[in-house]
Amino acid sequence: MRVNEIFYSLQGEGLHTGTPAVFVRLSGCNRKCAFCDTDFAAYSEMTTSEIIEEMARTRREAGAPDHTPMHAVVTGGEPAMQIDEAFVDALHRAGYYVQIETNGSLPVPANIDWVTCSPKDAPWGIQRVDELKIVYQGQDVESIASHFNAKRLCLQPCSGLNTRETIEYIKAHPHWHLSLQTHKLIDIR
Ligand code: SF4
Repeated sequence: MRVNEIFYSLQGEGLHTGTPAVFVRLSGCNRKCAFCDTDFAAYSEMTTSEIIEEMARTRREAGAPDHTPMHAVVTGGEPAMQIDEAFVDALHRAGYYVQIETNGSLPVPANIDWVTCSPKDAPWGIQRVDELKIVYQGQDVESIASHFNAKRLCLQPCSGLNTRETIEYIKAHPHWHLSLQTHKLIDIR
């Protein structure tokens, strides 16, 4: 697999905010969003076992005990371009609960534990979304949400610039939850 980076931190966004997690950022994306702020171009080719060993190493380095259940976040770029059920199975055997962060353009392996989708432009090929996360810019988020049938709906202010507007929308439409980029607020990765 083409791996951009592997690091251990806290999940900063969505339902799992604050959860210690090993992030596996895969290289490459099938969208070219003008506002993209993720540098995912560089990569190293790694096997699944090399990825799992590096994940364990980042945890050991931080003092986390081996063999404890852990959260893994597979992100990108667009990770659904590369991962498959065998990779998710291998992470499960290594003790990880597996979350994917995807743009919704492609199907994701059925055995993933939690699917977070921040949909970009249609067409959307994803078949299951647990958490829909939309950067709120005053758009019609209800019609987007109706397409995905997610368990949890999250609205995120746009670069912190319209937090009050986002809160007011959520108060008037309480099936949504506020999601903040807390990792940026507390200055961690
Ligand atoms: S889908 Fe996400 S990772 Fe890909 S270009 Fe757009 S913002 Fe960047």
